[in-house]
Amino acid sequence: MQINEFPEIKENVLLSGYTTLKIGGPAKYFYTAKKIIDLAKILQLAGKNRLPIKVIGQGSKILFSDNGFPGLIIKNASNDVEFLGNGILKVASGYPLPLLISQLIERNLDASCLVGIPGTIGGAICNNAGAWGGTISDSFLSAQLLNMNSGEISKIGKHWFQFEYRNSRLKHDTEQIVIEVNLKFTQQNAAELAKKASEYLKLRQEKQPAGNTCGSVFKNPEGKIAGKLIEDCGLKGHQIGGIKISEKHANFFENTGKATACDFLKMAEFVINKVLEKFKVKLEPEFQPLGFDAKEVRFLYA
Ligand SMILES: Cc1cc2nc3c(=O)[nH]c(=O)nc-3n(C[C@H](O)[C@H](O)[C@H](O)COP(=O)(O)OP(=O)(O)OC[C@H]3O[C@@H](n4cnc5c(N)ncnc54)[C@H](O)[C@@H]3O)c2cc1C
Repeated sequence: MQINEFPEIKENVLLSGYTTLKIGGPAKYFYTAKKIIDLAKILQLAGKNRLPIKVIGQGSKILFSDNGFPGLIIKNASNDVEFLGNGILKVASGYPLPLLISQLIERNLDASCLVGIPGTIGGAICNNAGAWGGTISDSFLSAQLLNMNSGEISKIGKHWFQFEYRNSRLKHDTEQIVIEVNLKFTQQNAAELAKKASEYLKLRQEKQPAGNTCGSVFKNPEGKIAGKLIEDCGLKGHQIGGIKISEKHANFFENTGKATACDFLKMAEFVINKVLEKFKVKLEPEFQPLGFDAKEVRFLYA
């Protein structure tokens, strides 16, 4: 069967509608997987058609190229969750993180460090999302991985993921995707937990812009804060094309309406050079560029 004969596969879908930055050209093929079984089926078909494939969640850490993506983008919208007792739960990788966090807090389970982070469980595991000194990997027990080439499903423990600051092995593995995760959270006093969660949320609202962004553009270099370095270069409010460095938080780039991926990369390069010149520190990207030629994004990793 050819991929375009599959009824729910769409062609030439603009990826700007599937990222929080609202940037990105068309995906050659696009599919929304509502269930893990659909995801597995479509991966098999795409494999037979030898297409480049990328599974995304809510696109809150991705910069897609203006040329889009030359293969199949699968939006993971699998959304089952099962609370197993003692703070343990089993959750599908497409489950929205904000919804899970509010369900945990209702149960007096301490997921407060993840409050206000957009995206899905799969994206959070891939990036080892977190804030306020905590990360999702602190609560990680095990996960089921699906090998996109062989179709094999395996249950994997924490060691495999090699979790680091905003990084995991999953980010660099082109074969495996996570389909289900087991997490464990600790019980906390209801009033204390509600207070902590609302404080974190308030701080986020005060310090971060509400517009179209991908969260922090750069990782914090060891012992330093990326936003402070950018701010101290006098770059708050600086604009290139449709991309503006947020007045609220210098590590956030806002799409002012008609920004392109090209504007975003130009700004990233400009900021990297300014910070390097002034502080001799090379900023590293926290966002993931997708659909670009290697040479277009080489400066990010040089
Ligand atoms: C306003 C704002 C605030 C933010 N604040 C924070 C913060 O405080 N802390 C923080 O850590 N992040 C933050 N982020 C970034 C982002 O929300 C997180 O990294 C989030 O966990 C990404 O999830 P996603 O579903 O959007 O992933 P996507 O952006 O869709 O994907 C990110 C990567 O994960 C991969 N991926 C997604 N699902 C799977 C899967 N099932 N299996 C394998 N790989 C997969 C994708 O292929 C891609 O490589 C913020 C973003 C925004 C827009």
